Amino acid sequence: MFHVKHFDVLVIGGGHAGAEAAHAAARMGARTALVTMTLSGIGVMSCNPAIGGLGKGHLVREIDAMDGVMGKVADKAGIQFRLLNRRKGPAVQGPRAQADRAIYQREMLAATQAQDNLTIVEGEVVDLKMSGQKVTGVELADGTLLHSTTVVLTTGTFLRGIIHIGEEKHSGGRMGDKASVKLAERIDSFGLPLGRLKTGTPPRLDTRTINWSVLEEQQGDDEPAFFSFETTKLAAKQVACGITHTNERTHEIISKNLARSAMYGGHIDGTGPRYCPSIEDKVVRFADKTSHQVFLEPESLTGHTVYPNGISTSLPVDVQEDYIHSIVGLETAKILQPGYAIEYDYIDPRALDASLQLRATTHLFLAGQINGTTGYEEAAAQGLVAGINAACLAQGREPVQFSRANSYIGVMIDDLTTRGVTEPYRMFTSRAEFRLSLRADNADQRLTPTAMDLGMVSVQRRALFDSKRDALEVGYQALSREAYTPKHISRAGIAVKEDGTRRTPYQLLAFPDVQFKDVVRVQPDLSAIDRPIQIQLARDALYANYIDRQQKDIDRIKKDEAHVIPTGFTYAGISGLSNELSAKLESARPDNLAQAARVEGMTPAALALLLAKLRQHQ
Ligand code: FAD
Repeated sequence: MFHVKHFDVLVIGGGHAGAEAAHAAARMGARTALVTMTLSGIGVMSCNPAIGGLGKGHLVREIDAMDGVMGKVADKAGIQFRLLNRRKGPAVQGPRAQADRAIYQREMLAATQAQDNLTIVEGEVVDLKMSGQKVTGVELADGTLLHSTTVVLTTGTFLRGIIHIGEEKHSGGRMGDKASVKLAERIDSFGLPLGRLKTGTPPRLDTRTINWSVLEEQQGDDEPAFFSFETTKLAAKQVACGITHTNERTHEIISKNLARSAMYGGHIDGTGPRYCPSIEDKVVRFADKTSHQVFLEPESLTGHTVYPNGISTSLPVDVQEDYIHSIVGLETAKILQPGYAIEYDYIDPRALDASLQLRATTHLFLAGQINGTTGYEEAAAQGLVAGINAACLAQGREPVQFSRANSYIGVMIDDLTTRGVTEPYRMFTSRAEFRLSLRADNADQRLTPTAMDLGMVSVQRRALFDSKRDALEVGYQALSREAYTPKHISRAGIAVKEDGTRRTPYQLLAFPDVQFKDVVRVQPDLSAIDRPIQIQLARDALYANYIDRQQKDIDRIKKDEAHVIPTGFTYAGISGLSNELSAKLESARPDNLAQAARVEGMTPAALALLLAKLRQHQ
């Protein structure tokens, strides 16, 4: 059967990267197609039923600030919300929600079907159509041809995926899905730098066979921190998780059987996620520890499946049963699906520019796990970037770059495209040098204006943003209107130095132990400010001095980012630049001076030479 259709943006894969890419492009007004193997494949959580966490929660808030879908869907599916690091400073707090898998999938599918300009096509992409070095469309397994100005590839772990359980292995994209072999062969023909990575998942347990009565219980927060700036109330019933621990017996069973593990038995070549180790990894690497925590997380409100977070494995099923049964509360637990490891191809992300377009093959964008990352949030954030930029290219608009200075998204894109990966990349707050200003709570202030300029936000979002921005401004003015004497401030119960310095309520909020309710005693009319605005203003004030100090660095990065290095720029002839450094720059192909500055071995002197050369080009 042969049909011919034409789209501006065609997205391959309906996982987390694909869904966000398709929605972003469609919101920008591009005629968009999302090709998925099956409708039920949209929004599938391959591993843990949770969204967010440290660093990852920041990414979800940023996606939401651009009016993306992940945050809204996660809020609808959330069955336990916790703000991680609640006792630490707001900059490193991360919203996290355990999600009902089925609700997440259902809501993501519904949102995708309801999105204007977006057509869902069921089928397997087996070929990419080219005109010279430019991608022009795809061919499906049934022979259907779909033409598109741009293509976004988001095939996750499906490229030459191999599933391992102990000594057994078979081809698969994840448990129950076939791998994408033909597409992988086609991609081979592009000569891209490919690597192999691996990741694992734990066995799933039957809740009816767990002895919950002996387990510690973990409840969610009383006041849930939602992902979306638009969400105001809980949608799903909330549940508790159970907590148990591995023990010496568990570790003994695992140690004895290490040779039978796919990871340790020499069956897998790929590198695994250091920060999300398997239980085999933990037992070997932390040999002095006799116990590890295991969170028992219900996967849905209606089913019976429980996800034991913390014990992913690639041991054979009989060993999985033995070690599960050695854990308190799990003595008679039934395994519904064994744990497994998956090994898959990824493409070295240094082959991409900052818009996530391949440098060598134009009009082809890559996003998600295929770029060497791990995690739903990292995938979705890249999907957003690729979807926006594919739409920009199709619509003849300038690419949109996210900067390290304005977002975690910018940090991730820069890390991937300039440094590459040696293990599955996941986000951490420590990766962001400007984390005091890149907070989860102010993601809308940082990014929604860009999304509004791009014309990709809803009317409600725009109205919400405008009224919040106005309220923040009015609140800031009220906090800064009057400076009070130390005597006045102490009379209000705040201990300050009697040094004669007058301070505004905003300046008082910069002291870590001063809260908004304290400054209301100094200036009672401040109580009229809405509670959420009070919280945001207090956070802004707390970090204001540090952020002012960082501003110089932020300005320098922004200035360097504005010095764009043209495609095809040659480094070889720059006098004074060492051969070694010019070879490194030639292979890294930075998009701008800020990226060039981060290339290993770059010095201020070399940067000055490069800048001089760039000026000659302008
Ligand atoms: P996916 O969610 O995998 O989506 C890819 C989509 O592409 C699928 O819907 C697939 O059907 C579709 N597709 C593939 N080929 C084609 C084709 N030719 N035509 C049409 N459609 C196609 N993350 C963590 O953060 N922590 C973990 O511990 C963790 N463990 C994991 C363990 C396992 C076993 C697996 C499989 C994944 C794990 N992940 C983990 C990773 C997480 O699932 C991914 O990072 C995330 O789902 C990646 O999103 P994605 O959109 O890139 O790919």
